[in-house]
Amino acid sequence: MDYLKRTYAKINIDSLKFNAQSYLSVLPSETKLMCVVKANAYGHGVKAVTSCLQDELGVRWFGVSNIDEAIELRENGILGDILILGCTPPSQADRLIKYDITQACFDLSYAGQLSKASDGYGKVKVHIKLDTGMSRIGIPCDDIKAAAAQAEEMYKLDGIMPTGIFTHLCVADSDKEDNIRFTQRQINRIKSVCEILTADGYDIGVCHWLNSAGGVYTNQNGSKLARLGIILYGLYPNHQLEVPVKMRPVMELVSTVSMVKKIKKGTDIGYGRTFTADRDMSIATIAAGYADGYPRLLSNKGEVLINGKRCKIVGNVCMDQFMADTTGVKVKPGDEAVLIGRMGDEEITADDIADICHTIGYEIVCGITKRVPRVIIKDGKETGIE
Ligand SMILES: *Cc1c(COP(=O)(O)O)cnc(C)c1O
Repeated sequence: MDYLKRTYAKINIDSLKFNAQSYLSVLPSETKLMCVVKANAYGHGVKAVTSCLQDELGVRWFGVSNIDEAIELRENGILGDILILGCTPPSQADRLIKYDITQACFDLSYAGQLSKASDGYGKVKVHIKLDTGMSRIGIPCDDIKAAAAQAEEMYKLDGIMPTGIFTHLCVADSDKEDNIRFTQRQINRIKSVCEILTADGYDIGVCHWLNSAGGVYTNQNGSKLARLGIILYGLYPNHQLEVPVKMRPVMELVSTVSMVKKIKKGTDIGYGRTFTADRDMSIATIAAGYADGYPRLLSNKGEVLINGKRCKIVGNVCMDQFMADTTGVKVKPGDEAVLIGRMGDEEITADDIADICHTIGYEIVCGITKRVPRVIIKDGKETGIE
């Protein structure tokens, strides 16, 4: 495989399969997978990820954030149902119909506009979105009867066709009692709305509320789909909390040592001179920076793996390069530096990096930028570049 061995992400498709199968094994049999592949499959490369899920695991449901992502899947040969989890401008109704894409329908005014815009093209498939507590998008459910009434109005519109109903859990990754009760209330709310719709003779279609965290922490049947995002990629919904499924990180981020030098005690390193050597040191320069999505917040805090040893980042991370302390480590230009991944007995995960940056692993993997080639690994071999 020919790609620039500067900084690249290895995407292990075998681990992806392992995670999906492992997650499926803890779900009730009535619950199918909707694989959430928004944001270029959380930065992993959407083409390789979705074709493996469809062709090798038979996944028939995919979730994306917007219509461009949805159409990209269709153009890559994804045949199953595609649900847009966010808002699509009603003016795009014709394209939703043309590409057979299902849209989240989150309030009556939006539903009306979508229905009107579809005139002459057919009906837009929608999943009615309920806001059961997150206050993002959806029909508010503080008043269950009013929520059900609003949903029923949607069924009466000519230009849309409800084929499902869903909600999103916002604290399903927490073990705090108050949050567990909150999640339960969210689930009770969607179930209550569904009961009213069913009693009134409406076909609710596919009803779903689980995300990665919900699927592993709420022991409750009923959701027809689990919208699996972060665990698919081998990361934790909440780094502090174990998950009861085995998983393997899918992405490794690897860079290359460009220069190695000895510096004297008192030498400053990098922009802003934020590090000054308190002894003679060996320093390696590594060809990755914040323009690759390697966070500048790791300056003087993060670590990388070189020849199996942990090396501290010294000085500020630059746009395209950074420096690490390799004193006592065997290192030469051209050596691999593992930024995310395993080397020997040592491992650095996206969650470890996220902890230093006061964020979540999601943001780290989604933030790996376009200039980083995604090298697809299957059966231990490099099979493609994205
Ligand atoms: C992103 C998203 C998911 C997936 O969440 P994970 O925590 O990554 O599993 C599921 N549902 C909706 C509505 C989302 O926006």
